Amino acid sequence: MDCLFCKIIAGEIPSKKVYEDETCFAFCDIAPQAKTHILLVPKKHIASLAQAQQEDAALLGHLMLVCAQIAAEQGLDEGFRVVTNVGENGCQSVRHLHLHILGGEKLSEKMS
Ligand code: AMP
Repeated sequence: MDCLFCKIIAGEIPSKKVYEDETCFAFCDIAPQAKTHILLVPKKHIASLAQAQQEDAALLGHLMLVCAQIAAEQGLDEGFRVVTNVGENGCQSVRHLHLHILGGEKLSEKMS
């Protein structure tokens, strides 16, 4: 499958890895929108949150907990933001579900 994030997970495209386990992979965003900007992706190719199925419920829950773990490991003790963009109106540019973990500074009150 011609998917940028599948290639990053497979190591075919280099990335700055932050975390990995059996089900997910995290790496630094190439164009950071905050002092800390990490992308967390499931190894399973799911195009976006809109395509997630009931069978993905445990995986989605795990991703949330891993976000919190990564934030703690990165020292984001004063808070952080988790965002997932979906589809055209959500301005999703990579069609492989990913969670943006943003922090390391006071973020805009606006969500985008
Ligand atoms: P989205 O716009 O929500 O689909 O987010 C895609 C994100 O992937 C953007 O924040 C990009 O900066 C990031 N990105 C694109 N290519 C790479 C890459 N090769 N390595 C790391 N991050 C990337």
